[in-house]
Amino acid sequence: MKKQYIIPIFVPHLGCPNDCIFCNQKSISGQKENITKFKAKKIIDDYLKNIKDTDAQIEIAFFGGSFTAIEAEKQEELLKLANEYIENGKVQSIRISTRPDCINKEILKRLKKYQVKTIELGVQSANDYILKRSNRGHTFSDVKKASKMIRWNGFKLGHQMMVGLPESTRIDEINTAKALVKLKPKMVRIYPVLVVKNTRLEEEYKNGEYEPLSIVQAVEVCKEIVRIFADKNIDIIRVGLQNTDEICEPDNKNSQVVAGPYHPAFRQLVESGMWYDSIVSKIKKLNVKVKEVEVSVNPIDSNNVIGHKKENVKKLKDTYDVDLILKQDENIKQGKSKIEITKVYNN
Ligand code: SF4
Repeated sequence: MKKQYIIPIFVPHLGCPNDCIFCNQKSISGQKENITKFKAKKIIDDYLKNIKDTDAQIEIAFFGGSFTAIEAEKQEELLKLANEYIENGKVQSIRISTRPDCINKEILKRLKKYQVKTIELGVQSANDYILKRSNRGHTFSDVKKASKMIRWNGFKLGHQMMVGLPESTRIDEINTAKALVKLKPKMVRIYPVLVVKNTRLEEEYKNGEYEPLSIVQAVEVCKEIVRIFADKNIDIIRVGLQNTDEICEPDNKNSQVVAGPYHPAFRQLVESGMWYDSIVSKIKKLNVKVKEVEVSVNPIDSNNVIGHKKENVKKLKDTYDVDLILKQDENIKQGKSKIEITKVYNN
């Protein structure tokens, strides 16, 4: 399989008509200034210089703000630049992210003209009350409408959803995942809400109106959501915000994160938690008191089976007095496992 590379170009808050309660795009994107064609070109050229693999699949991704809410001229300028790299064969595709209420026929026509392949929509929740409470400025019916138009016009559809928004419950978040499945996205990103500096959420947090999820709570709900998408073969391209100089431990002096379920390996916590649950459930079905279990998995899964800092190994020992032995087997499909009981307690 060809190796995939993404050249991320952050478009901070440019033209976004909204002010979502949790968002300070400038700190999330790690950039204080607006992007220009010249800056974008430099970013692309710098990335391309470092990609030595001649067979690579390279994508330019305009992330961060609400791309299609930018004035049309600016969109054209950035898309035209990205399209030139497709035309000269240096890049294979373009991806943008935007708001569901910033999609219409004219916008899609422009994106098509410049060969944009993937459109990701910031959905966040399927519950209109929660969307309003977070000042999203759109409803779930905008999401449905935009998602259909994107798919019908031949683009790849992506969705982004959040867990832990103000007044959102686990049930709301599971319902959001189920509602998104019906809209047939090809890929999803799941973001636990972090309280970021200079946002309205920070004010609410400081005056006690908002309490963020703990890491354990966020991991638990993300495990359920990941399962819903994985069961439908929807590609889960991110779980947790990407670590940057500014999205990092709240006690780091450059961090923009004030509170919330930040963890540098959040996705691993979710995936290894799912492995733990699956191993425990298999052991519980056996009619013996297990002392040692050998779990064979594809090498890609081995870190998640062991868990972050060997968490799963320790938890199995502490909770069930079971020793976990890991075996790597290339012949086992990713996500699958073979479990063998190697020792049992006699009594
Ligand atoms: S729509 Fe996106 S960019 Fe605009 S304020 Fe909300 S999260 Fe930030």
